[in-house]
Amino acid sequence: MVEVEGTVQRSEKAQRGVELLPSRVTVISRAEVPLPLGVIDKVGAELDTRFNHRVIDLRKPSVRAIFELRSALLAGFRSAFLSRDFIEIETPKLLREGAEGGATLFPVDYFETRAYLAQSPQLYKQMLMSAGFERVFEIAPAWRAEPSDTVRHLTEFTSLDLEVAYPEGADGLRTILEEVLVDALRSTHQELAARKNPLASNIPDVRTPFPRIPFARAEEWLGRPGAEQDFGSEDEKAIGARVQNDFGVPFYYLIDYPTAVKSHTFYAQRQDGNPRATWYCDLDFRGWEIASGGLREHRIDRLRENFVAAGLDPERFGGYLEAFRYGMPPHGGFGFGVDRLITLLAGLSNIREARLFPRDRYRLDP
Ligand code: ATP
Ligand code: MG
Repeated sequence: MVEVEGTVQRSEKAQRGVELLPSRVTVISRAEVPLPLGVIDKVGAELDTRFNHRVIDLRKPSVRAIFELRSALLAGFRSAFLSRDFIEIETPKLLREGAEGGATLFPVDYFETRAYLAQSPQLYKQMLMSAGFERVFEIAPAWRAEPSDTVRHLTEFTSLDLEVAYPEGADGLRTILEEVLVDALRSTHQELAARKNPLASNIPDVRTPFPRIPFARAEEWLGRPGAEQDFGSEDEKAIGARVQNDFGVPFYYLIDYPTAVKSHTFYAQRQDGNPRATWYCDLDFRGWEIASGGLREHRIDRLRENFVAAGLDPERFGGYLEAFRYGMPPHGGFGFGVDRLITLLAGLSNIREARLFPRDRYRLDP
């Protein structure tokens, strides 16, 4: 690290149009040699080597550019929510019960008892609906013990969550999310262009409404009509390619998830005229799921039935259920994976590159 004093002058040849003629150079901090990782080499090091020496890796302008994108995107989301009368909330991350099922919970020793790291703020943002907070969002870490090593799962990720009371049906909810997303993408593009960040040109200029593909139609595309089986990553990729081909757009909703697929999701509202389907959907981007959500069940009797159907004991969710006992408005919301969106926007091949210091099954440091 050096401090350079000198004269700045215009230059045709310099990239930024100016150059510095040094008159004095002072060494502030010496680097050991050799560096564990080249900072200017074009040849890419292995991901593991890069993450082992992440501070050096982060010095590369192309890597830094990802985190400028990340910062601009988060700022864009915040202002899109705030301009629509949402308030930002922070919910507890140490919990007694999980929202997304036991398999991916991380247990924590908690004095005389056991707690878990939050997989999602789901139950708390719903409770706030009963408290009269009608439009809330949160941008916070979530943890999932994902045992398999994939390019789109982390054990610690950033979840962007929203919840809205009195939405205009499941589609009203989808409209809110897509408009917020389009706003956030526009302001990200502007910010990156102003900073001359090369990733600016990666940000797609998309329009609403996004296509809504019923789950059953996507099953037909995949050649297994009526199977009522959740989509795997290969299925999602094939659906993304089909949407790109038929509609020419990268973002789309998969709507009307079957109750059979969401059976473990006790809070997903079943459709009144058609109990085989829920009001749940996914938002996908180029063949990757990036968000899930929909209308929640706000009627306590039906909620209790769903708990039983999912094999859960409602008594263990006492604090959550209490919110439904004293008046709960119809509501719904989404959980949105920020890291997946950034991965695809920045054109990365692995979600780990979208985080400063990624966490997965095998990596707890640096
Ligand atoms: P998947 O089926 O892809 O594992 P999910 O359906 O289990 O995801 P949700 O519970 O719907 O995930 O969570 C909402 C969003 O949070 C997902 O759409 C995704 O963008 C993000 N997300 C969930 N789990 C992870 C993870 N382990 N790493 C990164 N992002 C995640
Ligand atoms: Mg999901």
